[in-house]
Amino acid sequence: MRLQDRVAIVTGCARERGIGKAIALRLAREGAHVVAGDYGRSMKEYPEAKFGQMEELEALAGEIRKLGRRCLPVRVDVTDEGEVSAMAEAAWKEFGRIDILCNNAGGGVGGGPVVQQTLDSWNKTVAINLTGTFLCAKHVAPKIIQGGRGGRIINTASIAGKRGGPGLAAYSAAKHGVVGLTRSLAMELGQFGITVNAVCPGFVETQLLEGLIQMVGASRNLTRAQTIQSFVAQVPMGRMETGDDVANVVAFLASDDGGYMTGQALNICGGVEVH
Ligand code: NAD
Repeated sequence: MRLQDRVAIVTGCARERGIGKAIALRLAREGAHVVAGDYGRSMKEYPEAKFGQMEELEALAGEIRKLGRRCLPVRVDVTDEGEVSAMAEAAWKEFGRIDILCNNAGGGVGGGPVVQQTLDSWNKTVAINLTGTFLCAKHVAPKIIQGGRGGRIINTASIAGKRGGPGLAAYSAAKHGVVGLTRSLAMELGQFGITVNAVCPGFVETQLLEGLIQMVGASRNLTRAQTIQSFVAQVPMGRMETGDDVANVVAFLASDDGGYMTGQALNICGGVEVH
């Protein structure tokens, strides 16, 4: 096992079929103990937005424990500095070390064309994807440095962090921001043996993507199956992506094998064309 007894914080990992859940389970199979963070509540201003709940986090923790690894489930809003700081402290108290941070929490609320988007939904979408990644890095990196063994930060960006999309301006701008944050952090943290990279998935069949399928389907008058087909048509590998496709690369980046790669934003998208 490549990550024997290392400690990984993974945010946004509660939901079934989610990328974060695949990452958390994969890191545990590689031998890591996991701090599993998610929102664990609903957002009353956006009842249609679906977030991971505590029961789902507890179920994930059960799966990780069955693998013989320890798991600390944490309810955390990554946009709230107090909650993020408390998660970092709780992880340190439980394990006495942190080696890996996977900033995977993301998604969006509201959205739609820029001329119709509310400032509130713009701000919240940027906060969930970009500010949350900043806050987690800010509070967790000092703990990794304190351990003195170096470490890994892996941010989940998106192909939307490399290209635009109609109706996706806030999400796309935030994911472009995640790529910029990744590059700057890599320059700051290399001296401590910490690599910082981003992964850019394409069309991953998660509950989050269901929202996009519905939005695109409605705007183009397509059925769900036709919408999915229109996504697959952009993918040279000819199929939708799975969470495991992303987790495979995250496991490499988290391992010693990935130790000289930093500041990169890796497209894991079956060949979808991005710059
Ligand atoms: P998902 O809904 O399963 O995962 C997103 C998770 O983030 C959820 O569990 C949600 O509760 C959590 N989250 C949202 N806001 C949070 C907050 N403020 N605090 C804590 N947790 C919060 O969907 P997914 O598709 O697995 O998304 C995982 C990541 O992958 C996201 O960053 C997403 O933007 C990115 N991504 C997804 C796709 C795709 O096609 N599904 C493609 C590219 C990138």
